[in-house]
Amino acid sequence: MSTSINLAVIPGDGIGQEVVAQGLKVLTAVLPQDVKLETKEYDLGAQRWHRTGETLPDAELEALKHHDAILLGAIGDPSVPSGVLERGLLLKLRFAFDHFINLRPSKLFPNTATPLAGRPEIDFVVVREGTEGPYTGNGGSLRTGTPAEVATEVSLNTAYGVERVVRDAYERANGRPRKKLTLVHKNNVLVYAGHLWKNIFDKVGQEYPEVTTDYLHVDAATIFFVTQPERFDVIVTDNLFGDILTDLAAAVTGGIGLAASGNINPTGAFPSMFEPVHGSAPDIAGTGKADPTATILSVALLLRHLGYEAQAACIEDAVSADLAERDGTFRSTDAIGDALAARVAG
Ligand code: ATP
Ligand code: MG
Repeated sequence: MSTSINLAVIPGDGIGQEVVAQGLKVLTAVLPQDVKLETKEYDLGAQRWHRTGETLPDAELEALKHHDAILLGAIGDPSVPSGVLERGLLLKLRFAFDHFINLRPSKLFPNTATPLAGRPEIDFVVVREGTEGPYTGNGGSLRTGTPAEVATEVSLNTAYGVERVVRDAYERANGRPRKKLTLVHKNNVLVYAGHLWKNIFDKVGQEYPEVTTDYLHVDAATIFFVTQPERFDVIVTDNLFGDILTDLAAAVTGGIGLAASGNINPTGAFPSMFEPVHGSAPDIAGTGKADPTATILSVALLLRHLGYEAQAACIEDAVSADLAERDGTFRSTDAIGDALAARVAG
């Protein structure tokens, strides 16, 4: 654990700006006096692209490398063609910094609007592969724009890439009280990638005799996410399945306003990046309606990643206590940030 944190901040677009401000407020409040927090803001996202045509210039990519971690609000705006910022900024960062772990915890906090309210405690974490699968841009289109158009989008899976995420998931499962790990794939249909995943999952599992394992096809997993979410502890899955499952997980455990995530390179070779699962929500930007809790919980993941476990737990406890006391009356983005900052400071 260092005694200083050199943080890159990418507020981004829409509510990204608003929620990041609250995340920083809580971060400042929770850190001990002797930890020096330095932040540098990066102007990236839709406005920058409109102004200069740039998404993530090399100079900024290089500068970002020198931070301990990155806090991101949200990137995206309907005025930018689909894919420009996703590929040119978000995926570029993920590949450049080799963020091969996409970590998305799901916890049922008290008093949240969810179809599963009143269920036994739900507390699981999805470890989604971040650099392979169908996200590598490996594909193409033939006879584009004609009635005979053909498109491919290849799912790329390497033994190296699968093993490192599977190993990380076993480590996480081994460190949790229930020690249970579920592999989610679709190996009855996607046989080549599915068997690679399953074989590596079984092989690495021999090194973790205390971890109980399970396998589910992704379609079955969606059913259990809703009907029996308490059966899950740690889930490991491929990039696309993980994307879809974690949105479902967010929806059943209290909504997108509470879902945090980390794009992690556990080797520490590059800074990891933490962000709420939700997008820039242009429909509510500027209204003060955005819930900053997902960003504040992402700050907790960031702190845990940097070794500040006590401070991370303090934020999570504050969120729990705050939600327990929410009575349905409207609180603005700022008001929620203030309430949580006061709790962690006090
Ligand atoms: P992206 O493509 O960037 O993921 P999206 O189309 O999935 O974006 P979001 O920006 O995540 O959409 O918004 C989806 C819905 O959830 C919108 O109606 C938005 O207002 C709402 N929403 C998203 N984030 C929040 C938040 N923090 N607080 C309250 N409502 C939110
Ligand atoms: Mg989305």
